[in-house]
Amino acid sequence: MLKIRDLSKTYANGVQALKGITLDIPTGMFGLLGPNGAGKSTLMRTLATLQDADGGSVHLGDLDVLTDKVEARRRLGYLPQEFGVYPKVTAEAMLDHFAILKGVVERKPRKALVEALLNQVNLWQVRNRKLGTFSGGMRQRFGIAQALIGQPDLLIVDEPTAGLDPEERNRFLNLLAEVGEQVVVILSTHIVEDVTDLCPRMAIIAQGQLRLSGEPIETIRSLEGRVWQKTVSKESLPKHIAAHTVLSTRLVGGRSVIHVLDDANPGDGFSAVAPDLEDVYFGELRHAAADSSRAQAV
Ligand code: ADP
Repeated sequence: MLKIRDLSKTYANGVQALKGITLDIPTGMFGLLGPNGAGKSTLMRTLATLQDADGGSVHLGDLDVLTDKVEARRRLGYLPQEFGVYPKVTAEAMLDHFAILKGVVERKPRKALVEALLNQVNLWQVRNRKLGTFSGGMRQRFGIAQALIGQPDLLIVDEPTAGLDPEERNRFLNLLAEVGEQVVVILSTHIVEDVTDLCPRMAIIAQGQLRLSGEPIETIRSLEGRVWQKTVSKESLPKHIAAHTVLSTRLVGGRSVIHVLDDANPGDGFSAVAPDLEDVYFGELRHAAADSSRAQAV
């Protein structure tokens, strides 16, 4: 269990990236969902001990992550948003190098480890290819292999599916799900389906604040009977946005399908629709935006 308490961070330019985040994250896949600028990467880098918080605490079991950084680094694996590799080095040689950096110095066990990891992430066949020739999905799977060196208890993966095609994304998420059976895996993403498909627990952050945490199914249930759908023309979209609490608008076959939040059927051609995680997410983002404009008005 990872326990985050009242974690805060203000950058030198005055941006409050984390405003007192308190969150418990159990073993398994945990989705951290938020729009760009929400503070996800700041939180991930802080958990990965790569930058300091201004206040608050983080514990992984008995380990104080923010003060005992050396031990924390031994027990965590991290796949950053921008994962750089040497393009001219082969996958096997690079992984071997990472293993040395992580303290696996003896040759024989290191060879066995590198082989096992390449097999686990399904890159054994291409181990002799240079990393520069890898597709986005292969590179991300390689990133997971390096993050798994040292059998971490905590795996932090920052926006890993951005830019992957659907097949690569699926393959990558399946790999994460397998890993997630034994360790705490935090998947930070702005893509709602990543969480829907994979995470039994999740949180939403926006503007540096925790908006919601729990099981996706439970959070969806809280909207039951309150989401309504209508297909509208492009021209009437602004009118609908002004008149209703619009959660989302999607283009389907060139027309806009809108979801609105209302305790009762708004009439006017709306019909009931089963809520999904996108509705939960966009509803929370609307609340966050309203809260912040209220705060600014005071
Ligand atoms: P996310 O990962 O959710 O997109 P970030 O943690 O990257 O969010 O950013 C949160 C906020 O902090 C943003 O407003 C961003 O511009 C700001 N920020 C991030 N890193 C820095 C930095 N090194 N210096 C100043 N501001 C930063």
